[in-house]
Amino acid sequence: MSEFDLIRRHFTRATPSALLGVGDDAALLQVSAGNVLAVSSDMLVCGTHFFTDADPYLLGHKTLAVNLSDMAAMGANPRWATLALSLPKVDEAWLEQFSAGFFSLAQQHGVELIGGDTTRGPLNLCVTIMGEVPQGKTLRRDGAQVGDEVWVSGSLGDAALGLAHLQGKIDLPEDARIHCLAALHQPTPRVALGLALRGVATSAIDISDGLLSDLGHILERSQVGGEIDFVTLPIPDVMISNELKQRCVLSGGDDYELCFTAPAARHVDILSISEKLNLPLTRIGKIVAGQGWVIQDATGNQLKIESTGYEHFQ
Ligand code: ADP
Ligand code: MG
Repeated sequence: MSEFDLIRRHFTRATPSALLGVGDDAALLQVSAGNVLAVSSDMLVCGTHFFTDADPYLLGHKTLAVNLSDMAAMGANPRWATLALSLPKVDEAWLEQFSAGFFSLAQQHGVELIGGDTTRGPLNLCVTIMGEVPQGKTLRRDGAQVGDEVWVSGSLGDAALGLAHLQGKIDLPEDARIHCLAALHQPTPRVALGLALRGVATSAIDISDGLLSDLGHILERSQVGGEIDFVTLPIPDVMISNELKQRCVLSGGDDYELCFTAPAARHVDILSISEKLNLPLTRIGKIVAGQGWVIQDATGNQLKIESTGYEHFQ
């Protein structure tokens, strides 16, 4: 099968909201009046982000999900994506499953695939996603203010526990295993939350490298400090050692939850967003003057933390 047949068969769908989609040298897009374009790329590399035998349907889902998560963190409404693929060989069954997983999630979010690139090489999946935000309504990392509350969505550490299970470091009981592996392989991007937080949150980030590492980016960009109450963290209800639990929750990667800050005066608004979206939102601490985070245990003592998150080059 030629490269062009492959693209036509697996990656060409109707793109009614683009002026021009797949098939020319570039796609053509019109941004809605009064909106700015949010653009982000995220790449999944075989051996680094997933195993060679990863389920292709779930991989298609996750390739788009991690990009949607970046749109959520900006308060952007995702509209279009491109997909750059490097494939060791043409495996029809694999491609069919991969594109089914990708397009299923794309359809849920009204995202159109408007282009990409396809080459032979080690398995590598890179999406560039584009979304719209009304001018002035973007959620950025640099807006946290002293006195704001710090929140997280969903629960933390599930994906890291799933990975620890696959690596044979722990043996999760069946219920927890199903839940944690789903969190790892099929994360739910918090797009609706990002949209609901426009005009409410002062800053936001999606948690891809671990809570402390990603919260650290907000603190640094906003030039403030953060106090986190360990006992308030939404921690998985699994019988494993406290040490491992703490590591997964604070520093585990692949959560794709949102961490955001908002004025204390918006506390009730956030609780009502939580109810409307049927998504737990937990206040985990507050923004203070200074820099960096501190974590307090139930007795007010500071916890000592060793690793703060995943870094590719360390
Ligand atoms: P060019 O040679 O100009 O780079 P290509 O031959 O690589 O163009 O691609 C032809 C068309 O197919 C382009 O519109 C490109 O955006 C699209 N395309 C290529 N690979 C993919 C893919 N994996 N998914 C979606 N569209 C793709
Ligand atoms: Mg060209």
